[in-house]
Amino acid sequence: MSAPKSENITWHAGVVTRADREERCGYRSCTIWLTGLSASGKSTIAVALERQLWDRGVHSYVLDGDNIRHGLNKDLGFSPADRTENIRRIGEVAKLFTDAGVINITAFISPYRADRDQVRAIMKDGEFIEVFVDCPVEVCEQRDPKGLYEKARAGKIPEFTGISAPYEAPLNPELTLRTDQMSSEQAVERILGYLTEKGHLRPA
Ligand code: ADP
Repeated sequence: MSAPKSENITWHAGVVTRADREERCGYRSCTIWLTGLSASGKSTIAVALERQLWDRGVHSYVLDGDNIRHGLNKDLGFSPADRTENIRRIGEVAKLFTDAGVINITAFISPYRADRDQVRAIMKDGEFIEVFVDCPVEVCEQRDPKGLYEKARAGKIPEFTGISAPYEAPLNPELTLRTDQMSSEQAVERILGYLTEKGHLRPA
């Protein structure tokens, strides 16, 4: 990772510890990083999971691809360099959310393995939960809820992941969810089960 541009900057540690936050919240925060092709189901799963967590009294929040590109990352496009910078910034935001005691769920294609691994590298052990939202491109193309595959096939969207740009599947994700073989409700249950098993959530 590159060093900061400025020299005279010092890290200030807070006096509210992670343990303080966990004790008050009653759960252990983390980042649930959903990765997969467009239309694989990331946003659908993210908002359903956010709701379930919220209903259990967990501070949960979704960082969603298009939303972030409206603000923080509105200067970035879809070239490989811009995709990398997109994920780097989101990773830093996710780290801050995790530190603040939120279970945050990110829903970005995040097609490059190295970029996702870089986010994992800045997080504490066990706080980066990579979930491969796995769905064959043919099924994603049939779903095409935003009509993006149709536009990509017509050559109207350059560098479209799965069609004209690569997607590098995770090698060792914490979870793989085949969304062509399970419902979004089942996918959410799998993630909740994992969070409970790893001690992020108390058993319901
Ligand atoms: P992404 O955020 O990955 O681009 P979306 O969640 O926006 O994908 O779109 C996925 C589409 O697939 C939605 O229309 C959703 O209703 C549908 N779908 C069908 N089965 C599933 C499933 N098991 N999990 C998630 N979405 C599913």
